Formats: sequence, C-alpha cells, structure tokens
Amino acid sequence: MISDEVRVRFAPSPTGFLHVGGLRTALFNYLFARNSGGKFILRIEDTDRARYVEGAVDNLITTLRWAGLDYDEGPVVGGDFGPYVQSERLAIYKKHVDVLLEKRVAYRCFCTPERLDAMRKEQEKKKLQPKYDRTCLSLSENEIEANLSAGKPYVVRLKVPDNVTIKFSDIIRGDVEFASERVDDQVLLKSDGYPTYHLANVVDDHLMNISHVIRGEEWLSSTPKHVLLYEAFGWELPKFAHLPLLLNPDRSKLSKRQGDVAVEDYRDKGYLKEALVNFVALLGWNPGDDREIFSLSELENEFSLEKVNKSGAVFNVEKLDWLNFQHLRSKPGDEVLDMLKEHLAVSGIDVTRFRDDYLKEVITAMRERVSFIKDYTGKSPYFFTPPTEYDPAVIRKRWKPESADYLKRLAGEFSALDNPGKSDFENALHRTAEELKIQNGDLIHPLRLAVSGMGEGPGLFDVVSILGKEETVRRINAAVERIK
Ligand code: GLU
Repeated sequence: MISDEVRVRFAPSPTGFLHVGGLRTALFNYLFARNSGGKFILRIEDTDRARYVEGAVDNLITTLRWAGLDYDEGPVVGGDFGPYVQSERLAIYKKHVDVLLEKRVAYRCFCTPERLDAMRKEQEKKKLQPKYDRTCLSLSENEIEANLSAGKPYVVRLKVPDNVTIKFSDIIRGDVEFASERVDDQVLLKSDGYPTYHLANVVDDHLMNISHVIRGEEWLSSTPKHVLLYEAFGWELPKFAHLPLLLNPDRSKLSKRQGDVAVEDYRDKGYLKEALVNFVALLGWNPGDDREIFSLSELENEFSLEKVNKSGAVFNVEKLDWLNFQHLRSKPGDEVLDMLKEHLAVSGIDVTRFRDDYLKEVITAMRERVSFIKDYTGKSPYFFTPPTEYDPAVIRKRWKPESADYLKRLAGEFSALDNPGKSDFENALHRTAEELKIQNGDLIHPLRLAVSGMGEGPGLFDVVSILGKEETVRRINAAVERIK
C-alpha cells in the first residue's frame, strides 16, 4: 500500500544545466508537496553514463536552492530512502531484475548490436513498427546457460503481454490507454549492468514510496511501459500527472534555438528568482481567476494539480520581463539598495562615492521605470557619472540658439538658493522663465539634457534635487560649453 502521505520527487538526469522546463517540473512537485504537507524529494537519475556531465549535480542543487525550492530528502541532505543517486543503487536494480527473471516476466537477450541493427533496418524497409522480434524469448534453459558460461554479453528485456490494453488514469489528462502491441519488449538492464531509465525509475518510485509522479508530457509515452513494470512486480501504481509541453510563441516545442532555456542564463541576465518562479508557475497552471503576481509562499498556498491544464503552455519572455518589473518594484528598498550596490561594483563604478541615502533616492525616483537592476545604470547612468555626451536627437529638437544663455541665467538662480529642495528648484525655474518671458519648457528641456544627456527620465526636479545644487550647476556649465 502506498502511504497516504504525499511524497513526490523531481528526478532530473545530470546532463548539464537545469532547463526551464525542469524548473517547472521541480516547482510543481515542490508546490504540490508543500500544499499538501507532504515531502519533496530530489533523486538523481544518472544511469545513462554516456550523457553524464561532470558537475551537473552540483549545478542542479545550486540552481534549485537559488530558486528557493528546498528539498526534504535527496543528495547532500539524505533521508530514510537513500541513496538518492541512482548510480549508487545498482545492486538494488540487479536484485529486482532477478525477481522478474525468476517470475519469467523478463528474459535475457543475447542479440548483438549488429543483429539488432540489421533487424531494425529490415523493419524500416517493410514499414513495420521498430520492435524487438523476440528471437531470444524462445531460447531454451540450456542455450541460456551455454551463453552465460561463454560470457556472452546480454541485456534483460521485459516480456510485454500480447493483446492487452494498458490503462492508467492521469490527474491532468484523464484516462489514458495504449495497446500493448505498440510497446516494445523494453530493455530493463543494459549489458554494462546499468538499469535503463524505465526500470530504475519504477523501482525507485516504488521503494521511495512516491505517491504522485508529476513530470513533463514528454514522459507520457513511457508511462505504459512503467505501468507494465508495476504489474510485473505486483506493485500498486502511483498517481500520475503529466504537465503540458512548453511551447515557443510560434507554438513549436521550446528549444534552445529560439532563446535561452537554462535557468542559469536567466539568472545571469538579471532576472529575479521571484519573477522566474512566478513565471514558471504560470506555465500550465493558473489560480482560476485573473491574478498573475505570486510569491513562492502564495503559490504554496494556492497550488493544486486540478488547476493544471493540458494544452501546451507558451513561453512568453515579455511576460517574464513584466513579472520581473513587478517583483523588483515591490521589493523592500534595502534589498534593492544591496542589489544596486552589487551591480554598481560589478560594473566598475566606485560605490563608496555614493551615500546610501543618495542611492535610496535614486531607487525611489527610478522604481517605476526599471524592470532589471541593470536598468539603473542603463536607463539613468547620469546618477552615477555626469554625462559626457548629449543625445543629438534631443539637441536637434530641444536646444535653441538661446538655450545656453537661458541656462546660464538658471544656473545663477540655482546657485543663489540656500540648501534647496525639490520645490525650491522648481520655483526658481518658474521665476527665471517669467523674468526671461519664455515658457517653462524652454528651460525644462535644455535643463534635463544638460544634467542627464537624455530627453527623458523621472521627474526633472526629482533628478535635480537628487543630484544637488552644486552638481546641477556644474553640469549646466559643462553642457553650455559642450553643446553647440
Ligand atoms: N530522469 C528523467 C528526466 O530526466 C525523469 C523523468 C521522470 O520524472 O520520470 O526528466
């Protein structure tokens, strides 16, 4: 009997980076476990030695932790059902294969790769479904013994029952049926003694008491093989939930060709983990209303497999950017301050030149305008270094022959102010415009260009009061010299 306790697992193969699709699978498992008070387990499926990548396990664990998806059992943290790395469980698989051989629901196959290859080519030519032709199923005990004592390499295959309908029910897709005719006598144990994915996956899900198998739709076609294996062992099936495919905006399968797929690429580009997790949660799940912004703990409260839909989920990077904006905007100021300082340091800007109060004012001014921390230097570099260039398009549009003289007058007015605040600068500008009998705009636009080098940004008097009187006057004087 599978216990009533929810136990789910994320079972990646360490073949490189964590794919965003993998993050989605991990997240849905994590959320389901947290939502139902169950356990979230990490299991490393590393039995395909040809695809193994050095360092991939560490990378996976680091990335999961970065995203905040802490697991209850798994490598490093341990647990009662370990080891959690399949290459450390080879003896367990061997023992289970022996059980199946004993029960005669599996058989040894001594066919050479060359023979299998020729067989497959022949089937292709005849337009038949590629399937093992069961030559070794009819070997006698004596023949098997002779092969074994001759040291012939072999694999172990599952004997798939003839003419049955393999049925299982999937929480997301409903009832699913496959004809056993379409299922190959799959290899369970390879000639190198390693189990295949199918065997190791089923044995471990059973031994680790997994209650729900939640994984990507690409594994749906493997599930009938797993169901047959559970039946061969006489084990109860876990519940299955196959998550919808991830699609590019053109509805093709999400691939590297159309953009980044590694979680670390997004992290390195400056996406917040809060935004990425929120975004990935919405790939196939929604809360049943139009809310879109969620923290991880809100997701833990809200998530249910019943609200996961089966149609493909489109991966829309603009939505991710928007979520990044939303999450960055709602972050506490101190946290943004730390991130900004780190970003400035990495960008080679001497952070010690700026007081925290100064940076906090910059953050307040820019909060509604930045989607990424890097936008602080990208969109408002002038808070960190005086402009040395002035946007030529803005000069053409806003800089008149008289502008230099007007600005000199304004600089004079500003200089005379005593410890001015935002409204003092504003009043001084209005007064100057009145005295010169010009529009406010005749001063505002050249002033913005002078202090920032740009034509747009947050409120001009915010900018000027953040920069302060001396710096503003210095920048006006420099601009008057440089802009012709
Ligand atoms: N090792 C498989 C993978 O890489 C696990 C699939 C499953 O969850 O059963 O995704």
